[in-house]
Order: sequence, then C-alpha cells, then structure tokens
Amino acid sequence: MSTSIPRENSFKPSAAPSTWLGVMGGGQLGRMFTHAAQAMGYKVAVLEPASDCPAGHAADHLIAAAYTDPDALIKLGAQCVAITTEFENVPAESLSLLAEHTFVAPTASCVSIAQDRLAEKKFFTACAEVSGVLPAPHQSIANASEIDALPETLFPGILKTVRLGYDGKGQVRVKTKDEVRTAFEHMNHVDCVLEKMLPLAYEVSVLAARGADGLAVVYPIAENVHRDGILFTTTVPGPNVSADCAKSAQAAALEIIHRLGYVGVLCVEFFVLSDGSLVVNEMAPRPHNSGHYTMDACVTSQFAQQVRAMARLPLGDARQHSCAVMLNLLGDLWFANDAQLATEPAWDKLLALKGANLHLYGKDDPRPGRKMGHVTFVAEDLADAQKQCDAACQLLGIEA
Ligand code: ATP
Ligand code: MG
Repeated sequence: MSTSIPRENSFKPSAAPSTWLGVMGGGQLGRMFTHAAQAMGYKVAVLEPASDCPAGHAADHLIAAAYTDPDALIKLGAQCVAITTEFENVPAESLSLLAEHTFVAPTASCVSIAQDRLAEKKFFTACAEVSGVLPAPHQSIANASEIDALPETLFPGILKTVRLGYDGKGQVRVKTKDEVRTAFEHMNHVDCVLEKMLPLAYEVSVLAARGADGLAVVYPIAENVHRDGILFTTTVPGPNVSADCAKSAQAAALEIIHRLGYVGVLCVEFFVLSDGSLVVNEMAPRPHNSGHYTMDACVTSQFAQQVRAMARLPLGDARQHSCAVMLNLLGDLWFANDAQLATEPAWDKLLALKGANLHLYGKDDPRPGRKMGHVTFVAEDLADAQKQCDAACQLLGIEA
C-alpha cells in the first residue's frame, strides 16, 4: 500500500502563518479537529457542500462545494500542506486527486478498504494470521441467485450493505433465506454481506495512530454501549474488559494500522463474545465518536493526534490520566417529556456535576437521533465517573 509523501519539502513543521491543514467534511469531527489544529497554531480549510456546518463555523476557510468538485479540490490541495477526512464515505477518487497536489492521509487506498465491508473483512482475515482476531463468519451476496447457496450456519444473521452503512443503517436481521430474499429486495439488490449473528457480551473499540515515519501509538481499549444503533456511552477503562482482551485488541489494532501503512488516527471496533473471544467488526479511517473521551482523559486527544500525524510531527502520548465515561447528547434531549418545541437542555445543572466536560457541536436544529454533542465525566475512580453519568441521565431525562 502506498504511503508516498509528495511535496515533503514544502512542509513547514512550525505554525507559520501560511501553514494550512485541510479537512474533507464539515461535521463535528472536522470541527473538533479544527479546534485542535488551531490550538497548535495551524489554519484550517474545510471542504463541505453545506455552507452551514459545524466545522465550517470553526474553520479559517470554508470551501462550500461538492466533495467531487475538481476546482474546489485543486483549490484545497494548493492551499494546504496536508489534508485529511472526517467522514468515512469521502469519495476515494477525490483523495487521489488531492494527493496529486499535497500530502493526503489517510490515503485513498486505505479509505477504500474501510468503505467496503467485504474488502475490510478480507483485510482483517489477512491480519488475523498475526493477531489471531478474525471477523464474524460471513458470505457476500451480489445477486439474488446466490441466496439459495448460503450456508445454514450463518443463520440467524445480519444482512448488511457492503457500502454506506452507518449507525446501524443499511442492516436487517434475518432468520431465514426467505427473509434474506425480502431484505435484499428492499435494499434494491445492492451488494450485501450476510454476517452470522454472534452472542455479544459487550463491544469495544481501540484507537491507534501512526505517523508518516511508521511509528504508532495505541490508546486504551474503550467499552461501548449502543442504543438504537447509535453509540450511547463509552467507558474507559471498560468495566468488563480483561487485561488479556485489552492486550489482544490493542495488538490487533496495531497490526491493522501497520499493515495498512496508514497515517493518522484509526478506530477499530470489536465484539467480545459471551465466551470471552474477540471478533473484529469494522474500522473507521478517522477519529471516532468512541474516542471523544481522549479529549478530557488522555494526555493527547485523538484530534490533537490527528493534527500531529497530518503535520508530520512526533505523535503524542496516548496515556489515559483519568477514568472516563462519555455520554452522547442526541437531539432527543431537546424534546424531553414529549415536548413539541425544542427546549434547550439544562446545561447549567449538567455542568454542576463533578468532572463534567461538555462539548456541543454548534448545530442549530436538534432532531431525534442527531448527534448534538457529548459530555465526558472524568474522575480518579471509574465508579465516581459512572455515578455522575447516571446523575446526568436523570437530569436530562435519559433512561439510564
Ligand atoms: P456504526 O457505523 O455506527 O459503527 P454500522 O452501521 O457500521 O455502525 P455495525 O457496527 O457493523 O454497523 O453494526 C451495528 C451494531 O449491530 C453493532 O454495534 C452491534 O451491536 C450489532 N451487530 C453488528 N454485527 C453483528 C453481528 N455479527 N452479531 C451481533 N451483533 C452485531
Ligand atoms: Mg459499528
């Protein structure tokens, strides 16, 4: 996999006034990257079609254009010494085009693997020769005629689209081949993968970061709880995670990032099964929601780490200095008690809780299921952080 670095000589490692970093995508991840980059003296340019977007409000320059607009891409490429992405489904061709003009990380080839569940599973299977951590048993379905031949051992299963799934969208649980047929029909016959439904004990993720010099760091393992397919809480250290499990997951994440020749922050999601075994689920080629706790609980946040990787500076210390519980704040909170009109949640009460760190993404229109912000509770003891998170749920009207 190519990690060539064009225009190496044009890079200024210090925060010179002319030094710009670029981001494809204008969501909250781009916004938090922007804040971290600006804190280190960089200027940030964001390319995103919507002129009103979380990262656009923070960036020094917003290029409001389609992700595939060649003129906009050339402009961004000429402006920035390095460009990254904040969302998974960035067109890989756009990253390739940008790479003709400047340093781009992660590369189009790394991102393409993460965008394709089948390519991703094939890659994980290759990594498992070293790490021993396999993906779930699965079979591809490109054509309805392939459904008959699906092995019974994959049932009950989950049918997932190969591309463009997120937050549990593009997935259907299926018990029989007939149900696969119906679901495949509903998905308009797009390429799918049928995965065996596994007995999950809990879910974990590991962030790793790798610099252009090939040196990598790995963060502690995070335990994640999802609700309605969306991340609900991340707890670090995970109350269920054994030392062995943490070691295997961290080693697997490092094997993945090195084998990819990846530059930047990468998140790898795993399942821990009821027998304690570890299964690798998917990777996100960017900072990740389950890594937001690093902003308040680690020496170097995932966003500062991404800035360092882009700027080809030494990577920062990934050590955790405080126990942490991160709670996602969804738009539902603005409509507590079946309110018809959006009502601002009681941030004053939330911030009165010990160890609370509130991050709001500057989105004006709250909608159910929309990620509006997160709060991370830090404490010396995990039990204290958990207690504060429970209190937050109670005062915000979230079922704990
Ligand atoms: P996101 O982008 O939010 O991570 P996604 O849409 O890419 O989600 P997955 O992470 O693959 O989808 O699956 C969403 C959730 O469904 C998982 O977090 C897990 O709870 C459950 N799930 C997925 N695959 C399996 C499986 N093979 N066995 C059991 N549960 C599964
Ligand atoms: Mg997932």
